[in-house]
Amino acid sequence: MSGVRRIQGGFRNGPGDRLRTGRDTVPPLVIVGTGMAGYTLAREWRRLDDRTSLLMVTADNGDAYAKPMLSNALAQGRTPEALVTADAVRMAETLNATIRTHTEVEAIDVPGRRLILAGGEAVGYRQLVLAVGASPFRPPLEGDAVTEVLSVNSLEDYARFRERLTQVRQLVILGPGLIGSEFANDLVAAGWRVTVVGPDPWPVSTLLPEAVGRTLQQGLTAAGVEWRLGRLASSVQRAGEGFRVQLDDGEQLEADLVLSAVGLRPNVALAEAAGLKVARGIVVDRYLRTSAEDIYALGDCAEVEGLNLPFVMPLMQGARALAPTLAGTPTPVVYPPMPVVIKTPACPVAVAPPPRGAKGTWQVEAIEGGVRARFLAGDGRLLGFALAGAAVAEKQGLMRDLPPVLA
Ligand SMILES: Cc1cc2nc3c(=O)[nH]c(=O)nc-3n(C[C@H](O)[C@H](O)[C@H](O)COP(=O)(O)OP(=O)(O)OC[C@H]3O[C@@H](n4cnc5c(N)ncnc54)[C@H](O)[C@@H]3O)c2cc1C
Repeated sequence: MSGVRRIQGGFRNGPGDRLRTGRDTVPPLVIVGTGMAGYTLAREWRRLDDRTSLLMVTADNGDAYAKPMLSNALAQGRTPEALVTADAVRMAETLNATIRTHTEVEAIDVPGRRLILAGGEAVGYRQLVLAVGASPFRPPLEGDAVTEVLSVNSLEDYARFRERLTQVRQLVILGPGLIGSEFANDLVAAGWRVTVVGPDPWPVSTLLPEAVGRTLQQGLTAAGVEWRLGRLASSVQRAGEGFRVQLDDGEQLEADLVLSAVGLRPNVALAEAAGLKVARGIVVDRYLRTSAEDIYALGDCAEVEGLNLPFVMPLMQGARALAPTLAGTPTPVVYPPMPVVIKTPACPVAVAPPPRGAKGTWQVEAIEGGVRARFLAGDGRLLGFALAGAAVAEKQGLMRDLPPVLA
């Protein structure tokens, strides 16, 4: 089959791997996706079950890597290749799995308990886990260079981005959120010039109260980042060798490269087409069960009891619960306090946002070299925090007073 590479893992299992021997009629556990969610789950589950066959299917090349490194590898001088901790062959051996790389799952036949792969091949499952991640949201832009706007949400994207960087000096980043701010810091630290554009009043405004966001902005400004906040990019045009970014207030910015970091949307299309319940993400309960029997979802694609949290800690917690569930001991996922550390060395930030809709107020205190903001309920209980600069050292202490995100 063209474009499909099949990688067979080590075969320490006893007889019965249907994929290998054709003798076993029990279909495998199938995990779609080899991102941090898919691989973390596979590792956790293999600790509990070293006999059942495991098939992993991925649209990419199956390299294992820590995605958060993509936005701070440049200043550390780490190449895309250096971020790979193990390739798919090695992962297949370690996990005693079959990993099918460059293979897109096109449909789920729920009544038939089968996946339909690109090219039409059908693969049965005993249990199915969707760990299909999220995709960059494309901002509504006009102009003849819209398709040249890059976004980075995979190692492959990152390799392309790094290659382009060798030819450029000046970048415009669309989106002053967490990932845009991290890339801005990494790029200026490594010698590039960066202007960040977005409608937000201050960086990471969806997570940070103003005082902390402004402190982050000041730290990044001191490191060399320029900002056009409270403004939207409306078009990206070709201009000579580079681009011209038109802002909605009439200003035009010249750039050699435009990076979009305006947010991600969970990949729900596969689940939705199969009739599974979806909202922002694929809807799952505390056991990570979708609305269809024996189909589960984990990671950036999943919405657990109304929460779609596209970060590493929630997927780790999810994998720790789902592994025993798949192995026969139903285990609900628990989310402890899970602060996010924003990787901006020019001004480190840690944030544990209050629950959506929580009633309370931010109390902000300037400390030597930083800012501490605590979100307090009317009765004084701590419901969230945001720390910048030296205040980040208080993260562990404050975490002890926070309620769990999902008890
Ligand atoms: C630049 C950047 C920095 C980040 N920094 C942090 C951080 O500091 N801290 C933090 O907690 N989080 C951070 N995150 C978020 C974190 O990296 C993600 O939450 C996590 O990596 C998501 O993993 P995942 O496995 O759910 O999804 P993904 O890594 O997106 O994996 C999805 C997998 O599904 C496969 N797939 C999708 N559709 C199909 C299909 N139809 N058929 C077959 N295969 C398919 C893909 O090929 C891929 O293997 C960052 C994210 C980015 C982009």
